Amino acid sequence: MGRYTGPSCRLCRRAGEKLFLKGDRCFTPRCAVERRHAPPGDISNRRRRSSDYGIHLREKQKARQMFGVMESQFRAYMDDAFNTPGISGLNLLRTLERRFDNVIFLLGFADSRKQARQLVTHGHFRINGRKTDIPSYLVRTGDAISWKEADKQTEFYRERTDGIPKRPIPSWLSLDQGDMSGQVVTMPPDEELQQSINSRLIVEFYSR
Ligand code: SF4
Repeated sequence: MGRYTGPSCRLCRRAGEKLFLKGDRCFTPRCAVERRHAPPGDISNRRRRSSDYGIHLREKQKARQMFGVMESQFRAYMDDAFNTPGISGLNLLRTLERRFDNVIFLLGFADSRKQARQLVTHGHFRINGRKTDIPSYLVRTGDAISWKEADKQTEFYRERTDGIPKRPIPSWLSLDQGDMSGQVVTMPPDEELQQSINSRLIVEFYSR
């Protein structure tokens, strides 16, 4: 199945909660979840109770949509999580956090993960001085993230980096506001993994 290209807010309304897919708008009263609590689609379906399978599926879809990951890649992340020592659910969440596009978003260089993915694929960033345009690249401890040097003279760069940081930076990343570069200080600790995702439900979904 290809990448979802429909309205982002529809995914939040389906999940019944904010997935923060649209940047600044998500923090305003214009957010679709704040304005309309009902899920999208046929009104006759709305009172149906979710099955056990449906609850597990919904949580998996929520995580996928929040991080913008396609099913095949998500499945591969889950397989890795099962094969890595430790708690599989936390292993999965740690992998999602380490995605390069997510790190760009966390550093505040993009307003949303979707925008971060686009900036990465357009080649605006360097990792340890080397061009990296793969959003799914998993950052490692010590990785230094910087903007393309030529970008720094542009209006686009000034607009993107004006007022950074806009959000608190996680403890496992550091931001140098002087030259707008970031560093991966350590691997994401358990307490800073995405709290709004119930990883146990996802593990159970793939263990069936
Ligand atoms: Fe989701 Fe953001 Fe749209 Fe609100 S504004 S429904 S959080 S994508």
